[in-house]
Amino acid sequence: MNGFGALRLITRNATGAFSVEKLAVFGGKPVVPQGRVTPWPAAEKKHSDALRGVVDGGRYHRVNHPIVSGLEESLARWTGKWQVRAVGSGTAAIHIELDYVKERGEQVVTAALNWPGAVGPITISGLQPVFVDVDMNLAGIDQRAAAEEFGPNVAAVLVTHLFGNNVLVPDARSAARAQGIAVIDDICQSIGAAKPIVDGAHLDADALALSGNGAKHLGAGELGFVITEDANLIAHVDRVSLSSSSRSGARIFSPYSQGYNYRPNVFSSSIANLRVTEMDTQLQIRRDNSKLLWEMISELVGIFPLFNPSDCDHSMLNFPLRIEPAALGFAPGPAARDFVVKSLQAEGVPICVWLTKPVFEYLPDIRDNWKAADFPNTVKLLDTMFYVSEIAPPNDGELMKLYAEAFHKVWNALHKQGPKVAAGAISG
Ligand SMILES: *Cc1c(COP(=O)(O)O)cnc(C)c1O
Repeated sequence: MNGFGALRLITRNATGAFSVEKLAVFGGKPVVPQGRVTPWPAAEKKHSDALRGVVDGGRYHRVNHPIVSGLEESLARWTGKWQVRAVGSGTAAIHIELDYVKERGEQVVTAALNWPGAVGPITISGLQPVFVDVDMNLAGIDQRAAAEEFGPNVAAVLVTHLFGNNVLVPDARSAARAQGIAVIDDICQSIGAAKPIVDGAHLDADALALSGNGAKHLGAGELGFVITEDANLIAHVDRVSLSSSSRSGARIFSPYSQGYNYRPNVFSSSIANLRVTEMDTQLQIRRDNSKLLWEMISELVGIFPLFNPSDCDHSMLNFPLRIEPAALGFAPGPAARDFVVKSLQAEGVPICVWLTKPVFEYLPDIRDNWKAADFPNTVKLLDTMFYVSEIAPPNDGELMKLYAEAFHKVWNALHKQGPKVAAGAISG
């Protein structure tokens, strides 16, 4: 434990008794000064130079633009194994991959803790999602529950890696393999899962889908990637998505395409190119920051990481945590989380609540077929989780100390006053 000599959490009041420093949510001074946090995508001058380079080059699109082809090659080289084809978005990549395997069955097994944009392409591809609960220690698909759903009707299992975690689930992968079920990994939030993360090996997958959108590791605008070893899947990208720009550069209309215009954005690609060269450093800093932050707050009661941040392979797009309401004297449900989030935000810590319902609740076409109560781990996580964003460079360990100080300040108030402090904050 280090860095806490400097904490000023408990101060003596005029009578000499110890009192809790006033929370910013009640008008006290925030721990993190305004302007201290650099929000992602942390633009730099070289990014605007890259954009200008595209303007000066005079070609704003084309799937075979040298900037796009260069990006596909450097990303492939960085992964150390896969072929890469750039497309318009992570969602497009998932759609193309599901479209490629859709003849194998009618269903896709995936986790109820999921991103609507990841699950949407299942029905777009004419397939039906089958939801299973998540593993509490992973915030990823429960591999035993997934394997129970496998059968001749299942085309694919879609393994979503959320918040930058690695969802290895080796048993589910081998069970899928044995039954001819495609394994597709949504690594939109976990770019590092394209690297050798399984005891030095790559994930055993048919395809990975990656997003380059502004919020993700590539922080590039609008962009996505189909990642695979399967040359036929690479060729399938054009069958789904090209309609007016052929890969050879000829200006033709391709009558065999399904006509989704999933072309990669050249401007975004120019920024992504810069990010790839620094990706290992970016990932290391995200890991170091979240590990340090966790070391400084792990002693607080009733707070747990969604997955272990000292497992050094995770991509840590952000740092997700959850509250155990009973340990803080709260009833089950979201009240404890909501108070903690509001208080930490007031202290200047960049905290977000993610989704609050299982993914099917966000998808009108299928929501009536599923009940939240059947997914207890998913509901528990959604009621109690939040995440710390802005753990990427240039934010550093000094800022993590301020985040930690804010956590200690809020916990201290909770410890001294219990849930009644929360009642004041929520009604006030
Ligand atoms: C961002 C994201 C997507 C979609 O990527 P876009 O590039 O925004 O279309 C899919 N799945 C997950 C888990 C994501 O975080």
